[in-house]
Amino acid sequence: MNIIRTKAELRALTEGWRREGKTIGVVPTMGALHAGHLSLVEAACAATDRVIVTLFVNPKQFNSPEDLAKYPRTEHSDAEKLAPYGADILYVPDGAQMYPEGFATTVSVTGVSEALCGATRPGHFDGVATVVAKLLLQTDADQAFFGEKDYQQLQVVRRLAQDLDLKTRIVGCPTVREDDGLAMSSRNLRLSAGARAVAPIIRETLSQAAIEINEGSPIETALQGARSRLTKAGLRQIDYLELRGDPDLTVLTTADRPGRIFVAAWLDGVRLIDNIPVHATSQQERLLEPAE
Ligand code: AMP
Repeated sequence: MNIIRTKAELRALTEGWRREGKTIGVVPTMGALHAGHLSLVEAACAATDRVIVTLFVNPKQFNSPEDLAKYPRTEHSDAEKLAPYGADILYVPDGAQMYPEGFATTVSVTGVSEALCGATRPGHFDGVATVVAKLLLQTDADQAFFGEKDYQQLQVVRRLAQDLDLKTRIVGCPTVREDDGLAMSSRNLRLSAGARAVAPIIRETLSQAAIEINEGSPIETALQGARSRLTKAGLRQIDYLELRGDPDLTVLTTADRPGRIFVAAWLDGVRLIDNIPVHATSQQERLLEPAE
């Protein structure tokens, strides 16, 4: 797998592939790769002829300089992890390639970007949308692969691809979890051993709340129970814990259509996010279900 660092090299490659009639897949990442990222690479390799993994720690999507500085940078081991997977290129542009002197454009998606992480991390999704639009155009991708772990980001990217008439098909891939249920994330590396032992409570709590809502509990009762469970476990700052409709992410006050419970909470100074589907059926549908 070759590592390339410039737009010019990338363009020469993609144009060559196009002349050969090959399809192109892209997996955008910020590095510190784990099995979640690698599952996207596998999906890309299965679906397209040529696969580009991008590695760029995008300063525009960080809210604080400290968070950006703390982000792990592990290019060498990332390249080693990717080697067995069959990706063709690791594209590692630097800041000057992505945002040259005079860069002045922001891609801003309204609607799906506004709640949840959009409300608690102002400007975050502008940074994401801007860099993803650039990466989809630079790589000339037919398909781009994103994780459902960042479900709101996936919907923001779907919206931007549709609204900007990009030809790239956006493919969502399931969240990969540790054996104890914790969603894999580069940020997990920053948890102390004690906090790491507590972290699986996030997924357990979401599952419990999803079961309760699926069984007909009032949404606010289920979410309130989930909040107090997380707080008792030591997640004292909860940025949000909400049920939202899928895929529009508007608030659901009754669980009469598919939705997801979304959470962002702080543990040991690390902000963790997760989400889980709720397939709640209406009261009428429940009455029509055959008894077990
Ligand atoms: P990041 O490097 O955190 O920007 O993530 C790059 C891509 O990997 C995004 O599309 C994420 O949604 C995806 N991703 C991160 N963690 C996971 C996971 N645990 N399971 C599936 N996809 C993931």
